[in-house]
Amino acid sequence: MSEVLATSGWEARKGAFQQALLRWFWRERRDLPWRGVGDPYATWVSEIMLQQTQVVTVIDYFQRWMARFPDVASLAAAREEEVLEQWSGLGYYRRARFLHRAAKVIVDEHGGELPSTLEGLRELPGIGPYTAGAIASIAYGIAAPIVDGNVIRVFSRLFAISGDPRSSANQKTFWALAEALVDPRKPGDFNEALMELGARVCTPRSPACLLCPVREYCAGFASGEPEALPEVARRSAVKPMRALTVVVYRQRAGKREVLVGPREAGGLLAGLLEFPTVEREGKRWPRLDEVAQIVGIEELGEEVGEITHVFSHRRLQTRIYAAEIDASVHIAGDRWRWVPERELGQAAISALTRKIYERWTQPEPV
Ligand code: SF4
Repeated sequence: MSEVLATSGWEARKGAFQQALLRWFWRERRDLPWRGVGDPYATWVSEIMLQQTQVVTVIDYFQRWMARFPDVASLAAAREEEVLEQWSGLGYYRRARFLHRAAKVIVDEHGGELPSTLEGLRELPGIGPYTAGAIASIAYGIAAPIVDGNVIRVFSRLFAISGDPRSSANQKTFWALAEALVDPRKPGDFNEALMELGARVCTPRSPACLLCPVREYCAGFASGEPEALPEVARRSAVKPMRALTVVVYRQRAGKREVLVGPREAGGLLAGLLEFPTVEREGKRWPRLDEVAQIVGIEELGEEVGEITHVFSHRRLQTRIYAAEIDASVHIAGDRWRWVPERELGQAAISALTRKIYERWTQPEPV
């Protein structure tokens, strides 16, 4: 049992706290397409999509994904490119690759059924303690704890936990509290209720304490300054990067085609299609001839604009060129292929490539 609970008289109040939170959740919960479907696969997909993406954005993606890959077997049988296409625009593509890899493992080693224990779930690629706890509690009714950003905020305030929330001592406390508090009769609803409270009531800047169903248990509210917790951890510096991109295009049978190729393995966005690009850490721009060389064309054509894209720790400025070439021109390297321009929207491209395309087709007003 958590020391925080033991030393603050919480043990005696735990049952009433669980009831207050659950009653609020049953009354106020949003009707979301992955709720109440009783399908561990749907819970898994939704939980992965919801990591780092807002609920409103996930709803459409989830419905399209489930229409295209309704079960583990259909996901396992898909090509990676199709999987990335369905994910296109959601960002953090590692999540989609992990889903795909784990689906294959589930088919090969678990007869197509998601494991129904915490330990079994944790062995799958891309499933950490949070996702395992969410699937175990929501889909299988196991009293497993979960801790995400919302839960950290709620616990920091309820129990007035100070210090860096990412420190290992605090992480241990959050997990111990989650384990001690989860209601064994309704673990899935309890965990969802905690997250929903964090997302809708106990929000980062102005928590709506007067509407909060667990206000009477909250040390942060009693202190008069709940929004001071959790303490904001210092962010690491954002690194600058510069890139040159050339949109190479041609006319073929009256239609415009653009040249794209998979981004190299290993980095962020690996495998997604991009226009020929040279990137560089720091503030120096790559040379024009470096970009021209990777596709073997002599001229980069005209500059059409510049965009800025911010990844988690990098700020990438990209200058965009566009070069129309004759259909007979040979392109160097087997990495590149021609895609009809109207199919680009459905291809597995990143938000960055989409932005570049938009700048090319809708240049900024001069
Ligand atoms: S009372 Fe306020 S600070 Fe405390 S849990 Fe509720 S919303 Fe958060």
